[in-house]
Amino acid sequence: MHVDMNAFFASVEQQVNPSLRHRPIAVIGAHKRTVITTASYEARAYGVKVGMTVPEAKKLCPDIIFVAGDNKRYTDTCTRLVRLYTNYTPLVEVYSIDEAFLDIMGSLCLFNSPEDIALQIKRKIRKNFGLTCSIGVGSNKLLAKLASNMKKPDGLTIIHPEDVSEILEKLPVSTLCGIGSRLEMHLEAMGVKTCGELGRFPVKELKRKFGIIGERLHQMGLGIDESPVVPVEDEPDAKSVGHSMTLDKDISDNESIERYILQLSEMVGRRLRRGQYSGRTVALTLRYSNFHTFTKRRTIKEYINGDFDIYLVSLDVLRLIRLKYAVRLLGVSISNLVKDYGQIPLFKKDRDRQSVVQTMDEINDRYGEFSITRARLLDRYPHKGVIAPAWRPAGVRRVNYQ
Ligand SMILES: [Mg+2]
Repeated sequence: MHVDMNAFFASVEQQVNPSLRHRPIAVIGAHKRTVITTASYEARAYGVKVGMTVPEAKKLCPDIIFVAGDNKRYTDTCTRLVRLYTNYTPLVEVYSIDEAFLDIMGSLCLFNSPEDIALQIKRKIRKNFGLTCSIGVGSNKLLAKLASNMKKPDGLTIIHPEDVSEILEKLPVSTLCGIGSRLEMHLEAMGVKTCGELGRFPVKELKRKFGIIGERLHQMGLGIDESPVVPVEDEPDAKSVGHSMTLDKDISDNESIERYILQLSEMVGRRLRRGQYSGRTVALTLRYSNFHTFTKRRTIKEYINGDFDIYLVSLDVLRLIRLKYAVRLLGVSISNLVKDYGQIPLFKKDRDRQSVVQTMDEINDRYGEFSITRARLLDRYPHKGVIAPAWRPAGVRRVNYQ
């Protein structure tokens, strides 16, 4: 089940301040040259969209009311929403501030049907929060998210397994979570416009063109998604957070290895920050072409969760290793975790780095993974300007190397 709050920030503001209800409002940042982060449905009717500047929105809708966003209010509401979801299943993945995946497989014996759970959740969100949401139900995360997107606002859409192929047949590929405009363009050039066509396209060709995500694209075209719902935030006893990756082909040059490590560090950092974790032991796992696998780790004094900090420590670990064979798998993980570390760095350059990371997270939360990344990763993965290294449905998993 995928729960997507409708016009979340704007709706929360309308709840807090009744005079804003039923009126066109837009939530903006506090600084002067800000853009709109959410518009109420009343404002959307005038064509006001996320990302517009204040004058642009005013031109379309002269009566629009601008409200400075209050992030704490939204994170608090998000936390309370998650608490509500956990009445129905402990498996809740907070996908972004206004979206969550619920694995309700184990709860079905307690309720009549998925629809029953969805309706109860919608009712409670309306009653307790005064907010509406769109809920999608499907046999995996890909389909549930697709379903929630089908009816907004206040929707409930269930995709039954027997209808999947019919629904996907005519559906444009860009409708799937993770396929952005650039990837759409590449696929169109190959004659693939719909999910049906994507599913039938020879997987070999997809792999040749897109590398490791080729297989994944093939599965997406068929509506297959094996990625689990990962309730990182609800697991206070998380011992480590890690990602590993079997490489496209075996590599032995340091430059390529470092780039993969950067990508993995980005994935690990993003997961850590989602769960508000920081850690201070970084482990690097290597598997040689002959399948010999080993892990080396390093513990530092400071708790970290920034991509680049994790990357730098990983490189220190890498320097301890003298490569004997080509590498076929790389993994980065971090352990010795604490929650809500919240230490403000002493030095300005570290604070700057932290605010870059925060800003990148916000952009990727809002516009989809990999909307922004390090230029170095774009260079390494020419076709991946669209699908994120930390892109969730592509195989999020917790890896405990220990
Ligand atoms: Mg939403």
